[in-house]
Amino acid sequence: MPADHVDVIALHCDQGMATMVKICDAADRVLHLILIDFGSTCTSRCAPEDVVLGVLKTMAHPKIDVLIVSHQDKDHWSKLPALYQKVHDAGLTWQIDYTYYGGKDWGTSATKAQLTWPNAIPLQDDYSSYSTVGVKQPLFSLAGVTFYVLSANISDAGTNVKNGTSAVIVIEYGNPLRTAILTGDATIDTLVWINNKLEPWQKSPYGSPITNCWMLEVPHHGALATLTTNADWSAKTTTFVNYVTPLNIVASAGAHSQYSHPHKIVLDHFSTHVRGNAPLHYHVYFDDASTRWVEEQCQKGVFTTVLRLDGTFLDQRFTIYHDGRVTFHIGTAPGAVPGTGRESFGALPLCSRGRVENG
Ligand SMILES: [Zn+2]
Repeated sequence: MPADHVDVIALHCDQGMATMVKICDAADRVLHLILIDFGSTCTSRCAPEDVVLGVLKTMAHPKIDVLIVSHQDKDHWSKLPALYQKVHDAGLTWQIDYTYYGGKDWGTSATKAQLTWPNAIPLQDDYSSYSTVGVKQPLFSLAGVTFYVLSANISDAGTNVKNGTSAVIVIEYGNPLRTAILTGDATIDTLVWINNKLEPWQKSPYGSPITNCWMLEVPHHGALATLTTNADWSAKTTTFVNYVTPLNIVASAGAHSQYSHPHKIVLDHFSTHVRGNAPLHYHVYFDDASTRWVEEQCQKGVFTTVLRLDGTFLDQRFTIYHDGRVTFHIGTAPGAVPGTGRESFGALPLCSRGRVENG
């Protein structure tokens, strides 16, 4: 059955990453379910597994069609056991048709975790769906929604092999085409590698193969340290942003996260092309100038999964329709402009404050 729309939802998972992709028919029934990363370092204070279980319960044949794990860091897969348990407890069958995973430095415990992912397929080294100008090679396609690998397992990952080899996934749908980009923990080395892939396209009559980007996940939760290891990082980041021209950016965040993700400097660098006419909403960031966490109301397409510093959070949903229409369900806080179609909404106890760059 062809899809009517695809929802790309950045689930709140505190300091971690978990993106749920729902391919739906016109009655909003879920035809296919894809997870791209599913982890957190604060496992006791967030439950993206409850959101996914809620979706599975609505499906005629409950299953995860495809799981993609960008790389080996635990904050990108650690919630999978909790999801497995919830699915089991609900009396549903645990079924994942395919798992793809990126990253070139899987340690012992992370490799052990792979055993619970059926049909796991490693992404190829130095792989990109866009290696040949004029030819896009899909990773897979479901109901007309196509998934590509922008980069995976790059050899030029610099000193941060774990994050730099992370897979970057592109979702493409609609006529005219729209895209969403899930970046995992991509570093500046990843972006430079991607720039080198996209540059020949950009210089050719084809232009950039990734156009009309409705949603870009900010790489590595908005980390500053892995973005600034290249002396020319600001210009390199700008080149990447100009190639993919994201209209909305979203960062997975933790309230007062000890990792200080996302940094304002990073959000600013990725927001060159964001729309300036979003409804009024809150987002949070770590302000490097004042070295303090800030919550802010804004009308630009800059979103975080934590809305307020009291721990108020929201799963941020971006939708692409078959005819190229796009919507998003905005993260508003109580008392602000009301949003619609909330997946889940709540407030958390806070993380301890502090500054550690990692994750
Ligand atoms: Zn991470």
